[in-house]
Amino acid sequence: MFIEYKAKLLGVEVAYVDPAYTSQSCSGCGHIGKRDKKSFNCSECGHVDHAESNAGFNIAMRLCIDQLHTDRDVCKGSTDTPKPAMA
Ligand SMILES: [Zn+2]
Repeated sequence: MFIEYKAKLLGVEVAYVDPAYTSQSCSGCGHIGKRDKKSFNCSECGHVDHAESNAGFNIAMRLCIDQLHTDRDVCKGSTDTPKPAMA
């Protein structure tokens, strides 16, 4: 509710995404990988990322799929080369 309120003040759209497995799925290939505290490792494609960053990409991609908002910047971008996150 508070996020909706703050977003509305700033004219930012709020979207809802099913959070299931967002922190365990690989943002590169979709495989269920291994999360160990702040790091994520995918045994399938070798993708290594900060766990929160990996989950964020998954949420963003679900947003594209769920709402078919192909005009969103994130839907046009690539998740192949995420920048290293600060620990
Ligand atoms: Zn992977």
